[in-house]
Order: sequence, then C-alpha cells, then structure tokens
Amino acid sequence: MRILIVEDEIHLAEALSQILRKNNYTVDIAYDGTTGLDNALSGIYDLILLDIMLPNMDGISVLKHIRSENILTPVILLTAKGEIADKVKGLDSGADDYLPKPFATEELLARIRAASRRMGEIVSDTTMKYGDIELNTATLKLTCGSKEIKLILKESQLLELLIMRKTSVTSKEIVIEKLWGFDSDAEHNNVEVYISFLRKKLAFLNSSVVINTVRGVGYTLEARNNV
Ligand code: CA
Repeated sequence: MRILIVEDEIHLAEALSQILRKNNYTVDIAYDGTTGLDNALSGIYDLILLDIMLPNMDGISVLKHIRSENILTPVILLTAKGEIADKVKGLDSGADDYLPKPFATEELLARIRAASRRMGEIVSDTTMKYGDIELNTATLKLTCGSKEIKLILKESQLLELLIMRKTSVTSKEIVIEKLWGFDSDAEHNNVEVYISFLRKKLAFLNSSVVINTVRGVGYTLEARNNV
C-alpha cells in the first residue's frame, strides 16, 4: 500500500514516514499543499494523510481539488487543536476520517487500516486473498493450502498491487511508481526480476494463481481452475 503524507512539520512528517515504513507501507512526503495536490492527482496512492494548515494551499482546498477530480483515495485529515471548524469542513469536503494531533502510533495505524478496509481492498487488517493464495502483508507470508513461503518486502508489495488491480493490466510503469517511487532509477528489468521471483514462489506453493504477461503492456493475475 502506498501512502502520501502531506505535512509541513518536517519532524512529524519524518516520524510518520518512519512508522509507516516500519509497518511495510510505501511512503512519499509532500511538505506543502501544492506539491501534495500534484502528488495526489497522480492517483497512485492508496491513502493520503493530509495536514490542514499548510504552506501554499491549505489541506481543505487540497482535498476539495482532489475530490473535484474524482480521485477517491481515502483521506485522513491530521488536525491540530482548535481546528474543530476545519475538521467539520474537512469531513464535508470529502475526508474519510480525521486524527487530532498529537496521536498515538497504534491509533494512526488502526485508522489507516479502517480507511483501507472501507475501500474494500483488503480482506482483514493484513490479509489479502486471491484464488487459492493468501498474502499476509504484515508478516510477508504467502500461503496456499498447507504450504507457506516468506516473501521479501518488494515481492509482497508487488503481489499486493496485482491483487488489488485484479484483472486490470498492471503496467511496469505503475509497478515502478508504486514500489520505488516517481524519481527512482528503477527500470523495467527490476520489475521483471521481481515478477520472476514471485512466479517461482507461486510455483513452489503449487498455487493455481499465475502471473500472465501481456506483451508490451504489463501483467495480470489469473486464478486458474478456480471455482
Ligand atoms: Ca501544518
């Protein structure tokens, strides 16, 4: 899951990002409203943590803009004390939840899980199912029947992305943006390497799930012989 943090308090943004990365989320940070909006409009995020008081453009305006572009990424507003009016405005403007600062790590993680569940993308807090496989994105364990194998983080993120996109074709560009970020040096063959790792692990599990290559376009996931 890829999360965008829009927060101008550098220490808070960094601390949040560390917590989220430790919990296996991929994280980008924007330190002002306009950069946050630009990033959000890319549509690659699964969740946005959005501060209200921001340089260049305030969080509520960012949120309104995102929603006016029909981007339905769940947004959790980070509100400071005394911003109750903003909080109400925020929820009216299409925020999914708000979290008053300061907040406890556990509460933040719970709100994130709840917001993603509302999007219907995740079966439980940390488990995703597709065909005969079950992926635990916290322990990185991939299970099929009684067999189990441990994935590395990038493999888990890649499989999670393929599962969330279901039958839509996932291009290598999307994989690079989601797993490595916009400004990375990752190339198509990095993606091919992880796809081949995943295929080997699926084969090891004797899973009926296969990763199909759509030549020149990308990949799709398919559950064969699955009722
Ligand atoms: Ca702020």
